[in-house]
Amino acid sequence: MRKLGKTGLLVHEIGLGGIPLQRIDAETTRAIILEMRKWGANVIDTARGYTVSEKLIGEAIRGFREDFYIFTKSGARTRAEMERDIEFSLNELGTNYIDLYQLHNVKNLEEYHLIMGGAGAYEALVAAKERGQIGHIGITTHNLDLLLAIIDDCPFETIQFPYNILETQAAELFRKAAAKDIGIIVMKPLAGGALQNPRLALKFILNNPDIAVTIPGMESVELAKENLAIVNEPLTDTEWEEITKTRSLLGNDFCRRCGYCLPCSAGIDIPTCFTFEGYYTRYNLQEWAVARYATLEKHASDCINCRVCVDRCPYGLAIPEKMQQVESVFKF
Ligand code: SF4
Ligand code: SF4
Repeated sequence: MRKLGKTGLLVHEIGLGGIPLQRIDAETTRAIILEMRKWGANVIDTARGYTVSEKLIGEAIRGFREDFYIFTKSGARTRAEMERDIEFSLNELGTNYIDLYQLHNVKNLEEYHLIMGGAGAYEALVAAKERGQIGHIGITTHNLDLLLAIIDDCPFETIQFPYNILETQAAELFRKAAAKDIGIIVMKPLAGGALQNPRLALKFILNNPDIAVTIPGMESVELAKENLAIVNEPLTDTEWEEITKTRSLLGNDFCRRCGYCLPCSAGIDIPTCFTFEGYYTRYNLQEWAVARYATLEKHASDCINCRVCVDRCPYGLAIPEKMQQVESVFKF
């Protein structure tokens, strides 16, 4: 267990990320959460934007709500929108109290000022905290510059940011945040699916004492067991070698599957195309990748180079050019 900064919450190092719950059913969600309970894992992180995720979690924790800390978040930017979303989250989760409510994916300082200004979303969070509907207030973002700009005067009890074998750019910021007793939640522990060894990926994160909890997606009980069995012990020389090898193979130019580039004007499922390409070119699963890619409704060759996706990608990926690479791999 680690302390989540000034929230004072004692959290298990491995929590549940709510995105993949959208792809599974109520029964599996409950089975995963029951498995977590056995291990003493007590964090579930979801979002208003993850469609049915809050509802599935609410149903799954019925009868033992108090065994979990529920974190959720909303992309609302105004007070009125945030008030509506908090009520919605409480209803979906079937609870009268949310442990941590986060501002979801704040993109830049302009958005930040909108949220923190008069009639901005932050006012609604403070009011909900005063009413006892939420316990703590946090922020999530993919923009390191934004966190660097606000960290000295940070009004939040937690920050949530990507960190993994391939993305360690926040290490210094985490050190600073931890010194200020701000709780650190790590998203994208598997780099959005680019990392294929969950054991190594999670061990790497747990090696950083500034981090309180990381939230991998767990789509099955087996995966939950595998993740929860990981112990916080120093990385071996062989594991460091594997980390170095993975870094040189993937670099920075890879899709994290965040989905912010969607919808594509041509209807292409952009992150899935990149995933199948990765399976083909990096993980020696050519046959599997070709079969799966063929089932997609639209393919890389359907890209019309409109470039609307490029501005939306928080990692600055040259998506249309990468689509051409995907097309050259699969030939359509
Ligand atoms: S540039 Fe291509 S991939 Fe991006 S939104 Fe347009 S059609 Fe879709
Ligand atoms: S292309 Fe960029 S925005 Fe789209 S899913 Fe990948 S990382 Fe996210």
